[in-house]
Amino acid sequence: MTANLSALLLQHYVDNFRTLPWRSPPGAQPPDPYRVWLSEVMLQQTTVATVCPRFERFVKRWPTIEALAAASDEAILSEWAGLGYYARARNLIACARKVTRHGGFPSTAAELRELPGIGAYTSAAIAAIAFGERAPAVDTNVERVVSRLYGLKQPSRSEIERLTLAIMPADQSGDFVQAMMDLGATVCRTRKPRCGECPFRAGCAAFASGNPEAFPQRRQRARRPHRHGVAWWIERGGSVWLVRRPPKGILGGMAALPGTDWTGDPRKLANAIGTVRHVFTHFSLDLAIVPHAEPEGEGWWQPLDRLDEAGLPSLYRRAADLILAARLAA
Ligand code: SF4
Repeated sequence: MTANLSALLLQHYVDNFRTLPWRSPPGAQPPDPYRVWLSEVMLQQTTVATVCPRFERFVKRWPTIEALAAASDEAILSEWAGLGYYARARNLIACARKVTRHGGFPSTAAELRELPGIGAYTSAAIAAIAFGERAPAVDTNVERVVSRLYGLKQPSRSEIERLTLAIMPADQSGDFVQAMMDLGATVCRTRKPRCGECPFRAGCAAFASGNPEAFPQRRQRARRPHRHGVAWWIERGGSVWLVRRPPKGILGGMAALPGTDWTGDPRKLANAIGTVRHVFTHFSLDLAIVPHAEPEGEGWWQPLDRLDEAGLPSLYRRAADLILAARLAA
């Protein structure tokens, strides 16, 4: 039964695989671990459609991990701008330098997991795809597929890993892992799974139940707290004053508008030119943009016609766009 499942899945993958810039076609030589690692880090919390062009730009600029390790923090953080979750970018830099010092990526999931920013899923994905280790890479897509296949409502992570490993073939680990990811992303979707196109249909407990969406049971999400902050808009002679955020903490090391911390009182924001709402993982933020006369803190004058080169994360880029659009409309 399990051998049959993996054979059905691999055939489905051969017929339907997605061509992505970091992948090798089914059955081909494994891809470069640098590209697998970079794509997996970029894909954490970011969609494939967003990642594809950014990945291409990144590897064009830094084609090897050695080239990336030699780049400045500022250059990498600027290139990362707009991808969000900047702790990932800082871990990416630390990981690139560590791997380069050690002369290349280690080849097992256990060793990969010791590297900055690489957790259980990413280490297994790199080990399976780039090095052929029989490592069960379980992300939310794979968790959903396996839960449905076995009709599990509240499985533990170790249970899903064990069951994934049970259907994993003796070889072709990379193709299997990517086939499971693709199946979860395109066929066994959270809502409206396409069971009619699924290679697991005949043996799937959730399909047999008549209500596959009921598996696994959704976890209740905690409500996000809401915060308020102020960003100063300081403009002089066609340039705006930018600062660099502290290296640790949210948006750490990124270019930013100067401003208050984000514990402000919303009643004090009456003189704002506009407000940008942004949702972070653990809270949402209303950032009011307020004109200010004098530069605040250490920073630099960024010409407004070269704002793209500043590497502003999307929160501050949207704030700047709001100001510039309001000016055009006036
Ligand atoms: Fe998911 Fe349906 Fe396939 Fe079962 S048959 S694994 S529910 S897509």
